[in-house]
Amino acid sequence: MDLNTLNNFLTDIAVAPFTGGSRLAWPFLVASVVLLFAFLLFSANNAVLRGQARQLLTWRYWLNGQSGLDLAYTLLNSALKLWVLVPLLASQMVATIWVINLLQQAFGPGPDWQLAAVGMAGLFTVVFFLLDDVTRFALHWALHRVPGLWHLHKVHHAAENLTPLTLLRVHPLEMALYYCRSLAVVSVVGGVFIYCFVGKVMAWDIIGINGFAFLFNALGANLRHSPVAIQFGALEKWFISPAQHQIHHSVQPQHHNVNYGSALAIWDRWLGSWRSGAEAIDLKFGLSQGQPLRDHPSTSHSPASGQIVR
Ligand SMILES: [Zn+2]
Ligand SMILES: [Zn+2]
Repeated sequence: MDLNTLNNFLTDIAVAPFTGGSRLAWPFLVASVVLLFAFLLFSANNAVLRGQARQLLTWRYWLNGQSGLDLAYTLLNSALKLWVLVPLLASQMVATIWVINLLQQAFGPGPDWQLAAVGMAGLFTVVFFLLDDVTRFALHWALHRVPGLWHLHKVHHAAENLTPLTLLRVHPLEMALYYCRSLAVVSVVGGVFIYCFVGKVMAWDIIGINGFAFLFNALGANLRHSPVAIQFGALEKWFISPAQHQIHHSVQPQHHNVNYGSALAIWDRWLGSWRSGAEAIDLKFGLSQGQPLRDHPSTSHSPASGQIVR
C-alpha cells in the first residue's frame, strides 16, 4: 500500500461515520438542532429543557476524556466497517438471492402477485421497518440479559456524558452482531418480496428502500444521546423519545433494563420494560459504581411487583 492509498483510506475511515445514511450525517445533525429549537420554543416544560440544553454550549460537554474515547471507538468501528463489513455488503445481495432460491426450491416459481409499484414499496417499507425494529429490540434485550453479551454492551453504557457520538461507542463485536442482524432482515424480507413480486422489482430496489429509517433519523434521533430530555407528548407511548433512551442510560437501579426499543415503544410495553420519558428527571448516566449492576439479570426482584428491577 503506497502513501497515497493509505492517506485515502485513513480519510475514508474518518469521513464514513459522518456521511451517507449515517445518523451522524450533517443533514440529520441539522434536523436534530432544528427539532431541539422547536422544543425549546414550544414545549410545555421548555424551562427544564433550556437548562439541559445549556450544557451543549459548553466546551466541556464536547471536549473531555469521554469524548476522546467516543471518537476512538468511532474510528475503530469505522475501520472495521470498511475492512470487514463493507466487503461483506456484497453478501447482502448473495444472501437475498440464496433466500429466493430456497423459496423457489420449496414452493416452485413465485406467485407473481400484481401490485402497483407504489403499493409494493409501501408494503415493503412497513414490513421491513417492523421486522428491523423488533430485531433491534430483541438483540438489545439480549445484550442486556445475556451475561456474556452484556460485557460487550457495557462499552456503550459506560458513557457518562451522552453526545451524538455515543451512538458509535460500541464494542466492535456488538457492531458485528448488529451487522449480522441487518443482513438477516434484509435478505429475508428482500428475498420474500422479490419472490412474491417476481419480475416487478430488482433486488437493489428492495434493498434501497428504507423510508422509515430516514424519517427516524431526520426526527432528531441524535438527541437521544444528549442531556436534553425531550418527550413526544401524545406519541410518547408509541415511539422511543430521547428522554426514554436517556432513562435507558440512567445509573438509577429502577431504570436498569428498561426502554430497549429503537424506534417503536410497543415492544417494551409488550414486555413490561417501558418507562415514560416523564421519569427522566436529573438523570446521571453511566454504569453504577461499586456493584456489578446489570452484570447478571437473574436475581434482583421487587417484592412489591415481582418484576425484575435491575
Ligand atoms: Zn443498552
Ligand atoms: Zn444509547
